[in-house]
Amino acid sequence: MNSRRTIGFIGLGHMGGPMAANLVKAGHRVLGHDLVPELLATAVGTGVEAAGSSADAVATADVVITMLPAGRHVLGLYREEGLPAAARPGTLFIDCSTIAVADARVAHEAAATAGMRTLDAPVSGGVVGAEAGTLTFMAGGGEAEFAEAEPLLAVMGMRAVHCGGPGAGQAAKVCNNMILGVSMIAVSEAFVLAESLGLSHQALFDVASTASGQCWALTVNCPVPGPVPGSPANRGYRAGFAVPLMAKDLGLAASAARAGGVHAELGLRAADIYAAYAEEAGTAEDFSGIVRKVRDRSASRPV
Ligand code: NAD
Repeated sequence: MNSRRTIGFIGLGHMGGPMAANLVKAGHRVLGHDLVPELLATAVGTGVEAAGSSADAVATADVVITMLPAGRHVLGLYREEGLPAAARPGTLFIDCSTIAVADARVAHEAAATAGMRTLDAPVSGGVVGAEAGTLTFMAGGGEAEFAEAEPLLAVMGMRAVHCGGPGAGQAAKVCNNMILGVSMIAVSEAFVLAESLGLSHQALFDVASTASGQCWALTVNCPVPGPVPGSPANRGYRAGFAVPLMAKDLGLAASAARAGGVHAELGLRAADIYAAYAEEAGTAEDFSGIVRKVRDRSASRPV
């Protein structure tokens, strides 16, 4: 076991709850806080100690981890509420939320101004990965901060990549998810094209999964039922990786592309497609359900 640390954990939702529980299981002391009392109570059931406020959660912590919905929540705590000033000088603040690179840099700066050390460390792997402790972390910040965080990241995940300085973790996250969003649309369009050509889903899968069309959207999260029994398509498109989260991540990628003058035609188009889909999809629908939208708008029907 790693040496025991005291961790202030803020945001005990779908991801933060199981991540905090894994830290407790590994022998760390976790002081948790969430605005939703029921979530705090659930976390207490896993061994997390309830803190009355975010400031209480960080006051005696060696390390603070935030796992919040979006940039405005992170900046609300880091900047408007001045949370870093409530911690002991030199405390390591790790933000695991997915937020804009620019927001992450503002958060780094706010914490540094209060004398804290920081890392942005968004994750990939979803709720299943958070529960199993198999997340991938992509981190931005200094070498020393990454080295200190690594043993904790190793408890919550199976891989941590140090991507560069402040904001680099978020940069890696938006780039990766732009690939994912675009490739899921491409795979879905290919399946609907196959339907119109009289080619079975299985035949396309058998070829593309071992040919140059191979990608995660096809071989792990296959958008049609059958070829990959564990994919969300086999359970009525229950997430998995929910549509609103994909829409959010593509929105972050699109904003970054626009701000940087990057000619990301497909990335911007994917952001529009998922933004429209998010308006009609339930919050629990997997992003691979986009195949149904492609099919609905096409003349062909499933074979
Ligand atoms: P969630 O909404 O389930 O959890 C966030 C929690 O933060 C909520 O419980 C909310 O009450 C709490 N919160 C918000 N403001 C707070 C404050 N000021 N003080 C204390 N608590 C506060 O979201 P999630 O699904 O756990 O996702 C968290 C982050 O991880 C998001 O940025 C998301 O984009 C990212 N992410 C999610 C997934 C996924 O599959 N769910 C996968 C990868 C990355």
